[in-house]
Formats: sequence, C-alpha cells, structure tokens
Amino acid sequence: MLIGVPREIKNNEFRVGLTPASVRELHANGHRVLVETGAGEGIGMDDAAYVRAGAAIAADAATVFAEAEMIVKVKEPQPEECRRLRPGQILFTYLHLAPDPEQAKLLMQSGAIAIAYETVTDAQGRLPLLAPMSEVAGRMAVQVGAVSLQKAAGGFGVLLAGVPGVPPAHVVVLGGGVVGTNAARIALGMGADVTILDKSIARLAQLDDLYGPRLKTMFSTTEALEQTVFNADLVIGAVLVPGASAPKLVTRDMLGHMRRGAVLVDVAIDQGGCFETSKPTTHDNPTYVVDGVVHYCVANMPGAVPRTSTFALAQATLPYALRLAGQGWREALRADPHLRAGLNVANGRIVHPAVAAALGHDL
Ligand code: NAD
Repeated sequence: MLIGVPREIKNNEFRVGLTPASVRELHANGHRVLVETGAGEGIGMDDAAYVRAGAAIAADAATVFAEAEMIVKVKEPQPEECRRLRPGQILFTYLHLAPDPEQAKLLMQSGAIAIAYETVTDAQGRLPLLAPMSEVAGRMAVQVGAVSLQKAAGGFGVLLAGVPGVPPAHVVVLGGGVVGTNAARIALGMGADVTILDKSIARLAQLDDLYGPRLKTMFSTTEALEQTVFNADLVIGAVLVPGASAPKLVTRDMLGHMRRGAVLVDVAIDQGGCFETSKPTTHDNPTYVVDGVVHYCVANMPGAVPRTSTFALAQATLPYALRLAGQGWREALRADPHLRAGLNVANGRIVHPAVAAALGHDL
C-alpha cells in the first residue's frame, strides 16, 4: 500500500504521523511511504532521515493526498485537508469528531474511511492510542507544576523535593488513571509527598500495590478533597468520567482555604476541567492566578514535547498501521473488533455509535 504522511498544518502542531523508525518497518513489510517535505522538522527529523528509512519525499501536501491510499496524521484534518480526501482513501489520525460537526460533515462528504485513534480500544477496555498522550501529560504535569511553584512564576516558592531538614512539598493528584498514575510516579521520583485520590477502590488498590507506602491513597469524597487540597502545594487534576464533562472537584470557595501561591495543574481541562476556576490556556501563556492560586490549564500539553509525543504515539499506532496497510481496511477491521471501534466515518456516514449520538446522526 502507498501510505502518505503530510506535514501537520494545525496552529502550533509540531508532531508528525510517522517516525523514520515506523517508516522503516512499513517499508520492510513491502509498503511505500510518501512523506511531505519538512513533515518531521518539528521533531528534529529531516527529509534525509525519512529517505534513509525508505520513504519518498513529496514537494507538497496535495501530492501526498492525491497519491496515498492511506493518510497517517496526528491532528484532526483541517478543512483544506478534508477537501483533499477522496472516496475509499483511509485516514488514520486523531479526529475528536463528537464536538466538531463541521469536520464530520466534510469527512462524510469526502467519502474517505476515517479511523480515529481515540476510539480504538483494547481487550481491557482501555484506549491504547490515547494512553500515550495521557502518559506524556501526566509526567509533564509535575514538571510544569514544579516550575509554577517557583516564586518568579507566582508560586509559593517551594522546591518539590525539599532538602535535608526541610520537608518536601505536598502534591495531591485527583484521579488515579493514566494521567494520575504517571503524575504520581514523577512526583514521587522528585521526592515530593504525594497523595492520590480516586473514586475506584480497585484502582487505589492497584496503586497501593505498585508504589507501596511511599504513595498515600485516599477514596475521593468531599471530606478527603478538603483534607488534602487545603494543605497542598501542588494539585494535579486528572479525573475522567468517560463521555461526560469533568466533575468540578475544587470549587471557587475551596480556593479561599488554599495556600496563596499554591498551584493547580488541570490536565482534565480538555473535558472542561475539574477546578471550577479553570479556563483553557495555551503554551504561549500557560498560567493565570485566581485568589492567589496559580492555574495551569493547557489543553494540549503533549504539544510542548512533540519529539517525545511523536515517538510515543508512533510506536502505539505502528501495529495498527501495519495491519491496515497489509490487509486493507475491510479485512483488518473485520479481524479485530478493537480496531473496528476506531472506525468513525465510512462511505459518507458516521458509523461510530457514540460519535453518531453526540452529533445527532442516525446510525
Ligand atoms: P483515565 O480514565 O485513565 O483516568 C481517570 C480516573 O479518574 C479514573 O481512575 C477514575 O476512576 C477517576 N475519577 C473519576 N471521577 C473521579 C472523582 N470524582 N474523584 C477522583 N477520581 C475520579 O483517564 P486519563 O487518561 O488519566 O485522562 C484524564 C484526563 O486528562 C482526561 O480528561 C483526558 O482527556 C485528559 N488529558 C489531557 C491532556 C492535556 O493535554 N491537557 C492530555 C492527555 C489527557
């Protein structure tokens, strides 16, 4: 199959659909890969690296879209990209269609077969192509939190690890899923005093097994939230209720009981945020202060580390890309119900039940 990798055109997007290592695997399996010139620049991979891996370089996106049988990307296609898709062409990328009727309409009009990373499932009911970005965001949350705690950033002026004779900072993680577990891991590694809250006792038990007494676990109630958040230096919001907006666990009133200079990092901001005072921010201007409490609410945290994020995403997508290319989309989806769960648009129709329901379409 001929696989195309256009340069990402969404504002401030530096990731790319395939790394040279993925290209090499696809090439070794008998596929051809066409990469738009400069597509890997944002991750430090020049055209020569892709050519060494076996790719051909196209001068522009129009050529990639016109020639490829499958397009592999990162972000949802922008309108001009949607218009370049053609009937039967496979699009494999993040789509996030539910809140985006305009993109849904353009994809339906294109006749392309759109498979969304974020709805591919695995045997445990997890989302294996979303998890890598949650891992990145969870680990990053501690690093941005640590910097925000510095005085010059408006923070309380504490070092997460403390020093001999001076206790470490209190870090509270709300939600013990992929983001929360990765945040807790890095915070523990940096020497902080870490407490993690979750609604799932099973999850808390797993975390207890994983980290032992170094990690304090608490069942998430209003009482537990008040006990931990009021005494926290850094609170990381990492809750998710699938298909719903994030619950507002920290209210405006609660801010008044927090330390001036404490920091809230709301990773759940892409689902509306779990602090009442959260509003989305950007990497250019990531923080603001409410009642003396610093808020960091960047909705696309992995975008700050495009190289790591691209490598993490590409290693997760490669096995699926190999199967789509090797078997064709019909056979690959027939053979694997979890990959089939990724199918969002086919033959001009929305075919994913939850996405169709969100957009008000009949199946
Ligand atoms: P996940 O499903 O793995 O984990 C969510 C956890 O929240 C679960 O363990 C669940 O039991 C827990 N939870 C639900 N309600 C709770 C409550 N009231 N109190 C305590 N815990 C509760 O999800 P995830 O992959 O860790 O993602 C978390 C959030 O981070 C999602 O909204 C996701 O979209 C977001 N995210 C944001 C970025 C970003 O750049 N800002 C990047 C990746 C993920």
